[in-house]
Amino acid sequence: MRILLIDDDPFTLKLLGRQLSNLGHMVVAHEQAGEALPRLERNEEVFDAVMCDLRMPEMDGIEFVRHLARIGFTGGLVLVSGEDARILQTSERLAREHGLYVLGALRKPVAPDALQRVMDQQRPRHARPRASASAPLTTAELDRAIAEDRLECHYQPKVSVNSGAVTGVETLARLRQADGTLIYPDRFITTAEEHGLINTLTRAVFAAALPQARLWRDAGLDLHVAVNVSMDDLDDLAFPEYVVREAERAGVPLTSLVLEVTESRLSKNPLLPLDILSRLRLKQVGLSIDDFGTGYSTMTQLRDLPFNELKVDRGFVHSACRDASLCAIFEASLGMARQLGMRSVSEGVEDAADWLFLRASGCDLAQGYYIARPMPAAEVANWVELWAARLPELMGSGT
Ligand code: C2E
Ligand code: MG
Ligand code: MG
Repeated sequence: MRILLIDDDPFTLKLLGRQLSNLGHMVVAHEQAGEALPRLERNEEVFDAVMCDLRMPEMDGIEFVRHLARIGFTGGLVLVSGEDARILQTSERLAREHGLYVLGALRKPVAPDALQRVMDQQRPRHARPRASASAPLTTAELDRAIAEDRLECHYQPKVSVNSGAVTGVETLARLRQADGTLIYPDRFITTAEEHGLINTLTRAVFAAALPQARLWRDAGLDLHVAVNVSMDDLDDLAFPEYVVREAERAGVPLTSLVLEVTESRLSKNPLLPLDILSRLRLKQVGLSIDDFGTGYSTMTQLRDLPFNELKVDRGFVHSACRDASLCAIFEASLGMARQLGMRSVSEGVEDAADWLFLRASGCDLAQGYYIARPMPAAEVANWVELWAARLPELMGSGT
């Protein structure tokens, strides 16, 4: 690879330059980011990667990273620093947030094998299932989609970390478009919440998920079924009766129903959710605090509301094994769940490293792409069989 190397310390510059050459790379070195930047801006030469120190006297690494984002640099980025690990981590996260392709962050002195590992990385095939961030739906569009019965529920399995057993599924709403493609919740939940359509949506989800839960039970699959509810659903004192009635009608025991509560904004009248959730809990409906650690999903909620399940947000799960700060927050969340007698769930288990980390963590349940993506109801039974076949390898100690 052709690499642009920047470090204000001549000794480090020379040392890293030599290490990179030894790995077979072509290196162009600069002591100042302000000198290196124009080379990239002129766009006359191609650099596959930039390796940059963080603390530099004139333009520092963070400022340089901002410029890289501005000029749309598409090569790899490696951050190097003698600073403490947290600065390196936050800078790495910042670079990713800027949309840069970060190969890694290395602490000085840079060990040759760590350098090789970072440089050998292949560009990941971006496995995102969809193009992100399109415009939110308008109320009219959402209204029409629900009226035309184009709401479609997908289900994502949750498994026991300890035994691998499939314990349940989470219901995730999608809207089917006329052209057959799906619209994901990031484009319609906020619209629904802001325009008083969330109750309609929630009821449509219950109307799909509960009969489906019954079908699974009839087929011998004893799955908990979780439904996401918004805080705005919890402003109607009749909500518990509604849930009980619908579950009874579908023939689903309340003990196998879980409501995952996310609070995207503060509720106007905090006594209502407390009343409603307490009564649901009395009726033995499971209550899960979703996305724990983000937004308003905090310790205050944990103190005030009768949750019996805590879902650690995926932002603290994925990569926690490689990031001391994430790991600390993750473990503190698990500790809280344990001391409060709550079941813990980790979402965002994306790869084998996440799974192995969880296996050693004492977390109860796991959910994420590594286990299964959300899928149509019809695929669940088949997936359960595939999962059983994968299990011996996943539960093995040495792997
Ligand atoms: P959530 O309840 O935290 O659901 C998990 C989200 O993470 C889902 O996104 C799921 O597809 C995604 N996910 C699962 N595993 C992984 C993984 O390993 N890596 C990554 N990066 N993502 C993973 P989805 O389906 O787009 O839903 C987004 C959010 O929309 C949900 O977050 C939930 O808060 C909300 N939502 C979905 N359906 C409903 C609903 O029926 N009612 C309400 N009120 N909210 C809903
Ligand atoms: Mg959820
Ligand atoms: Mg979540």
